[in-house]
Amino acid sequence: MEQTYKGSCHCGAVSYKVETELKDVISCNCSICAKRGHILAFAPAAKFELLSGSDNLTDYQFGSGNIHHLFCKTCGVNSFAEGHMPDGSEMRAINVRCLEGVDIESLEVTPVNGKDF
Ligand SMILES: [Zn+2]
Repeated sequence: MEQTYKGSCHCGAVSYKVETELKDVISCNCSICAKRGHILAFAPAAKFELLSGSDNLTDYQFGSGNIHHLFCKTCGVNSFAEGHMPDGSEMRAINVRCLEGVDIESLEVTPVNGKDF
């Protein structure tokens, strides 16, 4: 069932809310996820709302530049990213570790072999 979760960076400058089910949660071994250790969920942009911090975000891009890895310029935490689904629709990649009230250990996390994509 979809629920509204609140997410934020460490210092709290960046905050957002997202409606998601947290059922397709992944860990990924691509070059950036391997270093950051993120647990990710994906949501349509329409289910995501940035509540604060738009002027406190710095964009990091690499490779094909498909994804905007936005991080807080105060605390450095990358609480979400912006990109597109394979069908071209706007997508938000949520760092599930940044959501309030989520027990990571209770989630079924699917490993994704992102390094070979
Ligand atoms: Zn911050």
